[in-house]
Amino acid sequence: MRPDQYAVVGNPIGHSLSPRIHALFAAQTGQHMIYEARLGRPDHFAEDVREWFRTSLRGLNVTVPFKEDAFRLVDQRTPRAQRAGAVNTVWPEADGTLTGDNTDGAGFFRDLSGRMGFDPAGRKILIVGAGGATRGLLEPLLRAAPAQLVIANRTPERALELAQSFAGLAGATRLESSGLDAIPDGPYDLLINATAAGLGRDALDLPPGLIAGDGVACDLVYGPASLAFLDWAREHGAARVSDGLGMLVEQAAESFTAWRGVRPDTGPVLRELRQAIEAP
Ligand code: NAP
Repeated sequence: MRPDQYAVVGNPIGHSLSPRIHALFAAQTGQHMIYEARLGRPDHFAEDVREWFRTSLRGLNVTVPFKEDAFRLVDQRTPRAQRAGAVNTVWPEADGTLTGDNTDGAGFFRDLSGRMGFDPAGRKILIVGAGGATRGLLEPLLRAAPAQLVIANRTPERALELAQSFAGLAGATRLESSGLDAIPDGPYDLLINATAAGLGRDALDLPPGLIAGDGVACDLVYGPASLAFLDWAREHGAARVSDGLGMLVEQAAESFTAWRGVRPDTGPVLRELRQAIEAP
């Protein structure tokens, strides 16, 4: 019997760790499947994806720059994908229609609460960046009832728009937005760098005093691209720092679980990837 086929689409895609992650999940859980990387064509995204599902595909992950194209392409969306405004996981239904999900926020939250042991309830959180990734993080973070959540962005209007569209989920949380030059006074218990640039410490230019003494700092990017921000965070008082590798593995596990109905153990996979990216 031929293995079930899965893929990740992006452009560029050569750097993607997803095929490796899903191969490890499949081996660990005994699933008969293959997972490959496919280079997306910007002008033909929708027709390519429909054709892939028509001929063979059982599930697709979507990465930069196609998450919003995937949102428009699918026939129905899970509530969290609807709120995130972006789709990173697709599967076909029995009637041939395509369902889109967004596992980024859940993946971040599982890494934060599970591996890092951070409980947002009653804490102060600062997210720098107001793009698609921040949009995915807001729902799980707000549901965990922090005392305050600030979205600070280079373009303040995008942060304001996000704060306004998630106000309905804020409950008792003080949900605010700002530019990078007017961040409400810290210190914050959790600082998340959700900007797209692999930021040098000069490029981000955050003020001192943002991080509480026992504070945690996370970057959504992983490996060398996260080092400048995480070094800056340590120098400015963070007790613990984390890059985005755990989130990457956890969001993949959410997709895998949705497709295969079995949840992989992410711990050994994260350890193996960590060794691989840190190898000389
Ligand atoms: P996006 O929608 O393109 O948003 C980019 C954000 O970065 C915007 O807020 C933008 O500010 C800001 N930005 C870009 N360059 C900047 C600079 N030089 N200085 C300050 N701010 C800057 O991207 P995204 O989808 O939200 O992704 C954000 C990051 O998260 C990416 O690096 C992505 O790879 C990573 N990510 C990781 C995972 C994971 O599993 N680990 C999952 C999803 C995303 P403006 O609005 O002012 O342009």
